[in-house]
Parts: sequence; structure tokens; C-alpha cells
Amino acid sequence: MNLHEYQGKELFARFGIPVLPGQVAATPEEARSIAASIGGLVVIKAQVQAGGRGKAGGVKLAHTPDEAFEKARDILALTIKGLPVRKVLVAQAADIAKEYYLSIVMDREKKAPLIMFSAEGGVDIEEVAHTAPEKIIKQHIPLEGLRPYLARSVVAKAFPDAKQTQQATQILLALYRAFTEGDCSLAEINPLAVTPDGRVLALDAKVVLDDNAEFRHRDWDHWRDPAEETSGERLAREKGLSYVKLDGDIGCVVNGAGLAMATMDLIKHHGGDPANFLDIGGSSNPEKVTAALRIITGDGNVRAILFNIFGGITRCDDVANGIVTALRESPFSVPLVIRLTGTNEVKAREILAANGLSATTSMDEAVQMVIARAQEVTA
Ligand code: GDP
Ligand code: MN
Repeated sequence: MNLHEYQGKELFARFGIPVLPGQVAATPEEARSIAASIGGLVVIKAQVQAGGRGKAGGVKLAHTPDEAFEKARDILALTIKGLPVRKVLVAQAADIAKEYYLSIVMDREKKAPLIMFSAEGGVDIEEVAHTAPEKIIKQHIPLEGLRPYLARSVVAKAFPDAKQTQQATQILLALYRAFTEGDCSLAEINPLAVTPDGRVLALDAKVVLDDNAEFRHRDWDHWRDPAEETSGERLAREKGLSYVKLDGDIGCVVNGAGLAMATMDLIKHHGGDPANFLDIGGSSNPEKVTAALRIITGDGNVRAILFNIFGGITRCDDVANGIVTALRESPFSVPLVIRLTGTNEVKAREILAANGLSATTSMDEAVQMVIARAQEVTA
């Protein structure tokens, strides 16, 4: 799950990372009253999960509550990288003397968290990585954790005095705690800013939480933004299906992640393009099948649907019943190709036949068939 900046800052503050006070607003009026309560110069920032908001006009300073109203109104009307701005953060603005970059990301290859730090902050770090990679300091965090001496060594040379170095060291140590205890896969501060009077502050927050750790974070629920989730994603989460939307036009319902991968590979191999990855899991729950079909038919790009079921623990007859029930509840016009094999497949084929449906046992054949169907629809 990706967090909005204001949520990321909430997490950072919990671990003692200095952030400036602010609140989120959904209307210009709210922005005005927050600005009034903060007093003085404020910054209005679009809360969308995209980088480069500054360049897109999504970050603006306001000197008075009325100016905050106007700027918030302008920003709330924006769509940044395809994302409509529904909320803005109104925060006390900082004077900035210099901007740095600091992040911790899980490096899967090295199986260790990686610190990235640069004195070239504020700007797009990918650009720095591209044009001047030597300006990014990289440090893997060893198994025993991040010790103060190591944190200090990362930031030591970049700051002009010991006081700032000390603050930056404390921030990095706190960021590491936020990263590990908060179960993040990314925790990024860009810019990590120094004010003219020498304070070091986190002016932005980009946090990605590791969904696998959700079970031990009851508090994540209130961060989930229903507006960011498509109705398909929501239904999938509620029904316990793993669903990933992709860009193609062939909807796939599969049992087991391995089979899902193989199915997508085979679709690509035969020149097709999967619209999603949807795993109904090892269970034989007809309700999951119905939910899966509802999710897929809700995706406007889908031109044909492939059911690819290998019946081990999953019973093919249960899946067949699920398909029949789903079709009865909400009939759809998208062509359906079914491949079933394994436990109770004969019974499954009987159930399907009684309802005017057929199934193949060959995966290759089914994939080629569904691609052809999708093309017929497009043509
Ligand atoms: P991003 O463009 O989406 O990464 O949004 P940021 O939160 O990083 O803001 C972009 C830029 O706006 C920063 O690099 C700063 O230069 C500027 N900015 C953000 N917050 C403040 C602030 O409190 N005061 C001032 N003066 N500038 C700010
Ligand atoms: Mn930023």
C-alpha cells in the first residue's frame, strides 16, 4: 500500500522525525481555516500518489488564509499524472537553505535495506541517478541493524557543521526505525531540508508499506484510501482474492499463483495480452468464483475471459457451479473460454454442458481460443 504524503509524515512523526505541523483538507474552505489556525506562510500540497507534484503545479505557497483558499481551489481542480486531486495538505511552510535526499528501500537482490542519500535533493532522484550517479551515497544496512556510527558515516560529509550532521544522523536512525517497525518497503524524504537557521526537516514523505505485514498493523486500515482503490481491487480484498490489474484485454481467472504466471506467459507467447492476474486460490468456494467474474467483467478493457483451473484441492465441479451461478446472477456478453482439469472434471463438464457451456482440458488450446475470441470482439 502506498501512503499519501500526510500519512507518511504521520508515520515519520511517530518515530521522531521532525515534520512541520499540517492538516489535510478536501475543500478550499477547509484549507483556509487550517491556514488560519497554523498562521503565517503555509504550503498547499496535492495529495496524490505521484512524484513531481511540484513541477505539475501541485505545490504552492500561500501567505494568507485567503490565498490558501485560492491555491487550494486551483490545486483541487488539477489532475496530476492521471490522478485527480481530492485532498490537499496544508502545512506550515519552511524557509529552505538547502535540499537533500534520504531514503531507505528494501533491496531484494541483496536481501537487505539500502540507504540512499544525496546532497542533490529536492529534484527527481532518478535524474540524479542517471546523470550523476556518484552523487548518491548507497549503504546497505547489515543484519544487526543500523548503528549510529554507520548512520553518521552516510551523512557526515554533506552537512556544513556538527549540529546539522547530528540532526541528520538522528533522522536517519529514526527513519530506519520507521522503516523496520513500520514494515515499509520504501521510506523516502525528498527534500530533507535545512532551514537558514540550521534546522533539518522532512518536507516530503513517500512511504510504501509491505502488504504482507498488514496482519500486525491494525492501524493501517485508517490509512487505506478507498478513493485510490478501484471497485475491483476492493472486492478482491474483501473476498480474499489476489488481483492485479494489467493493461491487456484477456481476463484471467486461475487457481494458484504459479498457474497464473504460467497462464500469462502462455497468453503472451501466443500473442495475446492479459488484462489481469486473478488467483481464486486453492479453495473451492463458488462465492469466490462469482466475485472473480464480477471483478473481471467490471474491467472495461476485457474482451474475453479465460478460466484456467487445475483441480487439486480445488474441485472442478465447485468452480463449474460458481461459473453457472455467476452467469445466472449477472449475465454478461464477454466470451468465456473454460479450461478445467483434475478433481471432479467429468462432473464439472456435465454441469457446464447442462447450462450450455463447454470446457477444454488443454491449456494451450484454451489460450489460443481465448485470444481468437478477443480478436473477434475487437475486429
Ligand atoms: P514533489 O514534487 O511531489 O516531490 O513534492 P515536494 O513535497 O517534494 O515539493 C516540491 C518542492 O516544493 C520541494 O522540493 C520544495 O522546493 C518546495 N517545497 C515543498 N515544501 C516547501 C516548504 O515548506 N517551503 C518552501 N519554501 N518550499 C517548499
Ligand atoms: Mn518530493
